[in-house]
Amino acid sequence: MMLGFLLARMGVDVVVLEKHADFLRDFRGDTIHPSTLDLVYELGLLDEFLKRPHQEIRELSGQIGSDVLPLADFTHLPTHCKFLAFMPQWDFLDFVKQHAQQYPGFRLLMNTEAIDVIEQNGAIVGVRARTIDGELQIRAALVVGADGRRSVIRERAGLKVIDLGAPMDVMWMRVSRQADDSTQTFGHFDRGRILVLLNRDTYWQAAFVIPKGEADRVRSRGLDAFRQEIAQLAPFLRNRLDEIRDWNDVNLLTVAVDRLADWARPGLLCIGDAAHAMSPIGGVGINLAIQDAVATANLLGEKLLKGVPSVSELRAVQRRRAFPTRATQWVQVTIQNRIIRNVLGRDTPVSAPGPLKLLRHWPVLRRIPARIIGVGVRPEHIRTPDINSRR
Ligand SMILES: Cc1cc2nc3c(=O)[nH]c(=O)nc-3n(C[C@H](O)[C@H](O)[C@H](O)COP(=O)(O)OP(=O)(O)OC[C@H]3O[C@@H](n4cnc5c(N)ncnc54)[C@H](O)[C@@H]3O)c2cc1C
Repeated sequence: MMLGFLLARMGVDVVVLEKHADFLRDFRGDTIHPSTLDLVYELGLLDEFLKRPHQEIRELSGQIGSDVLPLADFTHLPTHCKFLAFMPQWDFLDFVKQHAQQYPGFRLLMNTEAIDVIEQNGAIVGVRARTIDGELQIRAALVVGADGRRSVIRERAGLKVIDLGAPMDVMWMRVSRQADDSTQTFGHFDRGRILVLLNRDTYWQAAFVIPKGEADRVRSRGLDAFRQEIAQLAPFLRNRLDEIRDWNDVNLLTVAVDRLADWARPGLLCIGDAAHAMSPIGGVGINLAIQDAVATANLLGEKLLKGVPSVSELRAVQRRRAFPTRATQWVQVTIQNRIIRNVLGRDTPVSAPGPLKLLRHWPVLRRIPARIIGVGVRPEHIRTPDINSRR
């Protein structure tokens, strides 16, 4: 959607396919990072964007065993917004759609599922899609696979996936928030369990982290045992855990961390989760996907106005974005293997490692995780023009 918006904004004809009838899906990534908010600012849309309902998170903290530690402080970032914004992904996508549709070159086809690529002489020249009215073929100078971590486009194009592995899956649920609850967004780590609580104003978006593939075992122990495990980590929730009425209230995220060896083939480029599924650690998946979209528009927009970009021009996107992807995944995989695997693998009390305790005594150090999460590696900037401003 973001790439479609940026390209249409500079005069390129774009068709965006979305297989669902709407963007309404719960428990998707809802974090809009300060570097993404800077892009919204560069588009001149920040004030309007911040009028949409959202929560602003200025600090993150964690409870490791009995130690409560401040982990990240976003208030000193060199960005316009010194906070993470939580906004449901459908509101964010709706905002992008509303602005993209002001450009004549933008077309969004809902209920339209890409099912295959069209190949000619070794190049991809379009896609085949399923619609409620039958099959559709769309020819294009460039097909962009931005269809998420189970990308059909990357699979049909035969792009090789490098799986980096993840030791955990995540069970997501909602629990109501009460006026006297903490305002913090919180991670609790103890005795083989991890619970992350995201403050969504009227409710907590709760992520219960389990060892990879253990969801059926957790379910087989029963809902009462599950509620009990959550209450042990966050006793203040105990009186509301009946709100989790059955397993339908608990959504499973199968965590994957992977990336493509090659993001491009003649006529095709993959970006976002389709090029690199991210671990939920740091909640950076949306941010990286959007940075990819901005880099793609910057590098390929002018070329698309003139014709068909060559494969080496398409690979320029991977050259630009591979380092941020690899660096972020390296941090995530290190945390997964050194901390998460360790906590999930033991049934004894855990305590905070020494270096993390420094964050309590040296507030300035909290700016480092804030920078890694909030801005990340090699943030992009909007370099593409707006056809409306030329009129
Ligand atoms: C439960 C969960 C929680 C997450 N939490 C966070 C978070 O807090 N913060 C964060 O930054 N990231 C989070 N993520 C990751 C984040 O959602 C992704 O990294 C990000 O959305 C990637 O964007 P994308 O555009 O590449 O792919 P997606 O957001 O997956 O978008 C792909 C779109 O393509 C559509 N689609 C798929 N296949 C087809 C097809 N064949 N034809 C047409 N349309 C198709 C899908 O319906 C979808 O709308 C979370 C992910 C999950 C699953």
